Amino acid sequence: MSRPSNFPPPFRARDYVAEPTDPPDERIEVGVLIVGAGPAGLACAIRLGQLLEEHPETAERFGEVPVAVLEKGKQPGSHLLSGAVVNPRALRRLFGEGFRMEDLPSYGEVPGESVYVLTRRSAMPIPPPPPMRNHGNWILSLSQLGRFLAERAEEGGAMILPETAAQKLLVSHGRVVGVRTGDKGRGREGGELGNFEAGSDLVAKVTVLAEGTQGHLTGVALDRFSLRGEEPQVWELAVKEVWKVAKPLDRIIHTMGWPLRAGKRFREFGGSFIYPMGKDMVTIGLVVGLDYRDASLSVHDLLQELKTHPKIRKILEGGERVEWGAKTIPSGGFNALPRELHAPGLLLCGDGVGMVNVPRLKGIHYAIESGRLAAEAAFRAMQRGETPASALASYDDAVRDSFIWRDLYEVRNMRQVFGHGFFVGGALASAMTISKGRVEVGKMQAEPDADQPLLVTNRDASYPAPDGKLTFDKLSSVFASGNKTRDDQPNHIRIERRVPREVAQLWAHMCPAHVYEIGREESDGTVVVELAPSNCVQCGAITAKGGRLTPPEGGSGPEYTAT
Ligand SMILES: Cc1cc2nc3c(=O)[nH]c(=O)nc-3n(C[C@H](O)[C@H](O)[C@H](O)COP(=O)(O)OP(=O)(O)OC[C@H]3O[C@@H](n4cnc5c(N)ncnc54)[C@H](O)[C@@H]3O)c2cc1C
Ligand code: SF4
Repeated sequence: MSRPSNFPPPFRARDYVAEPTDPPDERIEVGVLIVGAGPAGLACAIRLGQLLEEHPETAERFGEVPVAVLEKGKQPGSHLLSGAVVNPRALRRLFGEGFRMEDLPSYGEVPGESVYVLTRRSAMPIPPPPPMRNHGNWILSLSQLGRFLAERAEEGGAMILPETAAQKLLVSHGRVVGVRTGDKGRGREGGELGNFEAGSDLVAKVTVLAEGTQGHLTGVALDRFSLRGEEPQVWELAVKEVWKVAKPLDRIIHTMGWPLRAGKRFREFGGSFIYPMGKDMVTIGLVVGLDYRDASLSVHDLLQELKTHPKIRKILEGGERVEWGAKTIPSGGFNALPRELHAPGLLLCGDGVGMVNVPRLKGIHYAIESGRLAAEAAFRAMQRGETPASALASYDDAVRDSFIWRDLYEVRNMRQVFGHGFFVGGALASAMTISKGRVEVGKMQAEPDADQPLLVTNRDASYPAPDGKLTFDKLSSVFASGNKTRDDQPNHIRIERRVPREVAQLWAHMCPAHVYEIGREESDGTVVVELAPSNCVQCGAITAKGGRLTPPEGGSGPEYTAT
């Protein structure tokens, strides 16, 4: 049986590492350069602003632009998508005394919670297992939180550059010195169009990569500086929708079981979340581990199927879908963290390095805390008399001393145990959670998602037909993501174009945005994969399953507002 990893993409990390090429007087110089305006990057910018205000005497060492944040989305928040039930711990530490969660754009504290095990027709309530308890957490939209944090970062003096993708890592004499941004205005074959604008070298004393899941330059840096962890990183793919509804939902809901299959050979691990967003909106999403094996599995279509369950249909009845999106979640946990979170001139934060507590489906507070700690290390590295190398290394120590490390250690094998199937995996996972990680379930090696041998079933035959009211096809979903990418830009997806049919089927079904189609069959039995890259919502799943997503022209992709 084929494995996607047998058909590697035409991608070499070293092609994305370069010396600066702009003449020195044309380079844009900044003090600390942050890539990614997500919770990690923005928390880093906010904390740097606070430190600069507290220590104005150090400001001159940061230069004319002390802090800059690059964001590839149209604006901060455009590419942010989450649940999002947020543990307020890190926000409180970031904003300090006097901060109240009520000051944020939010949908209030979690009002209550239910967990159900679903079969096709029934929903059996179970007491929420410890990881699914959310007392004291708050419901937010991450895209809205991103815009709020970006305003606070700008108030603190950060320069935010939206529609700007960091394409290459600038490395000189073994030290990261900044990034090169992507060109804009190239045609499909790479030629310069009338509105062509070349990318620029942004050079910085410290570069912080806070790119989130499947970070392009984070992956490049992990390879360049040999930082990859003990275990390979693995991911889950989440597809979610935001609905305006007729009746308020009075609690958060998690489900397990259907429409995923329990059989060990399928390796279908995941579940759904349904969260109220005030009185007239809900968000519903399905998360599935990308180590699944069935080439006919489509998370987008499983979410459509989930909505037809009587319990869930009732929540959405009389409502209207207002937004849709998709994103991967790193789920390798503690054992897949990089060996170190810094390299010369560089710090790595948040989802980019896999700081996610998978059983709790929580990463936002780890992203914020790691961004805050990265700011403190970067600030220290700029002080007179400090050795930059030891100042940046202090970030690793700070993360190891923080709740990020403790929490992730407690659930260190959680994701891997589900390789034993739903029931055995569930029992082992519960034992680990209840014992706060003291029960050793044995060290379990994860395999890269793309190494899973494929099988093909007719699972796709039972996906519901789109009715445009409750269930939708992929193209109308892409439209609901706000994606208006121009379709004559260069292809940013790297895949092997001639592959066995089951690999092409896997990609076509997996991609929630209908980017891949199976083309002609060659004489050797392989098929040609056709691409529509402008549909891409940059979820990152292709990187997990045998291809490679690179950032397209800045400003492309979804324009989320409520996800
Ligand atoms: C469906 C879903 C549900 C979730 N539910 C929850 C939940 O309920 N609670 C919770 O705590 N966590 C949840 N998580 C996880 C949480 O969303 C992440 O842990 C968190 O968003 C990570 O923050 P980050 O700043 O590291 O990355 P991100 O939030 O991904 O932000 C990264 C930013 O960097 C930008 N960027 C990336 N690369 C580049 C580049 N090369 N150039 C320029 N810009 C770049 C991106 O566009 C993006 O804006 C969920 C995740 C998903 C997908
Ligand atoms: S093409 Fe884009 S949207 Fe489709 S799977 Fe790949 S990254 Fe996700």
